[in-house]
Amino acid sequence: MTRLWNDPAVFADEMIDGFVAANGRYVRRIPGGVARATASPAGEVAVVVGGGSGHYPAFGGLVGPGLAHAAAMGNLFASPSTQQVYAAARTADTGGGVFLCYGNYAGDVLNFDAAQSRLRDEGIAVRTVTVTDDISSAPTSERDRRRGIAGDLAVFRAAAAAAENGYDLDAVAETAARANERTRSFGVAFGGCTLPGAEAPLFHVAEGRMAVGLGIHGEPGIDETDVPTADALAELLVGALTDPAELPDGVEAVRGNRVVPILNGLGSVKYEELFVVYRRVAELLGAAGAEIVDPHVGEYCTSFDMAGVSLTLFWLDDELAQLWEHPVDTPAYRRGSVAPAPHAPASSVVESTVETVPDADDDSRGAARRVGGLLAAVAETVDAHADEWGRLDAVAGDGDHGIGMQRGARAARAAAEDAVARGAGAGTTLRRAADAWADRAGGTSGALWGVMLAAVADALGDTGAPTAERVAAGVDGAVRSVDAHGGAAVGDKTLVDALVPFATTLGDAVASGSSLSVAWRDAADAAERAAAATAALRARKGRARTHGDHSVGTPDPGAVSLAHIARTVGDALAAAAPTLEGLPS
Ligand code: ADP
Ligand code: MG
Repeated sequence: MTRLWNDPAVFADEMIDGFVAANGRYVRRIPGGVARATASPAGEVAVVVGGGSGHYPAFGGLVGPGLAHAAAMGNLFASPSTQQVYAAARTADTGGGVFLCYGNYAGDVLNFDAAQSRLRDEGIAVRTVTVTDDISSAPTSERDRRRGIAGDLAVFRAAAAAAENGYDLDAVAETAARANERTRSFGVAFGGCTLPGAEAPLFHVAEGRMAVGLGIHGEPGIDETDVPTADALAELLVGALTDPAELPDGVEAVRGNRVVPILNGLGSVKYEELFVVYRRVAELLGAAGAEIVDPHVGEYCTSFDMAGVSLTLFWLDDELAQLWEHPVDTPAYRRGSVAPAPHAPASSVVESTVETVPDADDDSRGAARRVGGLLAAVAETVDAHADEWGRLDAVAGDGDHGIGMQRGARAARAAAEDAVARGAGAGTTLRRAADAWADRAGGTSGALWGVMLAAVADALGDTGAPTAERVAAGVDGAVRSVDAHGGAAVGDKTLVDALVPFATTLGDAVASGSSLSVAWRDAADAAERAAAATAALRARKGRARTHGDHSVGTPDPGAVSLAHIARTVGDALAAAAPTLEGLPS
């Protein structure tokens, strides 16, 4: 149970504000998350980490000397937006380039990659390593598709120590990649977590049962058993991680090798219980001949009040062992002693100001008001369905689809209102809404809604009333952008399954002379049918992919929400059609 909040929609922001107020010695607030309060030497590689909030001490708690230079902090369980990652990286960079490091989740990959492209376009050198330590999320043959969990800490520390020892960007990335290869984790769960304001836990584990391999956002596990004894749990975890198939390259056997064990509590398993489990973990590793280095028992990556435990084994080589000695001083994690460092100069990154808008003609300004009205209707629909979409997403994903869409749609509505008030045209209004949506929603769908709306915005432009042809061309552009960003094909069980028939039907109807509102209604029908039909499919993309079988029988949340929104816009267009055909003023 999460008991204390004000408005759940701003929980993450208020959490970051309080975290910074309590830890001003270490961190300062930046757009998108936190950066070190202390200055870093010019030319040092900046290690920028990040992910959804709700996993403290990951990720903000791990910012400080010896660890991350900055953390992009997304909303609860939602990846940070591209803008957040970009802002954190820009703030942290001191000329040595930026090293991006985060757990391997679809939404994070999308947003960190987009930020990486943007930084590179600006001439900043960037390298990325995604952490893939969770052995239950994909077989060894597909290691690069595994999720990242508590093993983040090992990889972040190796990268940061390398950076502070003067390694260049490529060498930091190579060191981190090797640390990732040598980091394996395995987890279990006894109970789900409840997000602030939610009425029910995000996922359930039956009383007295243990979900084996359950993801830290409730991604379904690989097995279920009765809750074992502490010793039997230790045996399960150590057994899985010391299976010869899971020993990394360069570790031929457990015997004689150095290993850092990280026994991690997910949120509501007590330290005392962890120590009882660790007692047996240490015995087993010792008996197998491992040389245990610097054991960690505590909370390193949580999921709110989730009841669960994971064990990480970080296999050291000579260089990694030396880097592991590097001292760390962060709000949530300290090792050795760090010399005092001077305070950082005030942040050089200013939040982009959008005081002025480009010129627009009267027709386009009138259409901008209609766009604002449509986005308000969309935000209402999203509010009404957020819980339902969250539940759909919890079946095989992480349950955040409703919350993410809600934040995105609300931000888009506000940005559009602001743009309209400044006299923006339809294109600029929708473009600002698109950016706000992507920035505030986070997650895979947030980034994709950002690019979809942006494509339509580009087609509308700021002159003339948007014709049905321009809208259809924009929707066509949205299909291409979603393909370019997400790479999903029809049948992969994503929002693409609803978007493509929507776009095709709209384009065909407009081409054959239908009015926008009639064409849109037909297209929304097609999207609804296609979204419902995704229930029969097995997910092949996105977060749900690793547990595709669980998704059979449930429609794809992203396709369902897209169809609902299409319907809402269609209804609003139809209601206005007699006088406002084709979105004129
Ligand atoms: P996240 O997956 O980051 O938690 P959301 O829960 O908000 O993001 O959105 C999940 C939806 O995103 C899925 O239901 C699916 O429709 C869509 N999605 C995921 N990956 C892709 C992709 N590669 N291309 C298109 N849509 C995708
Ligand atoms: Mg999700």
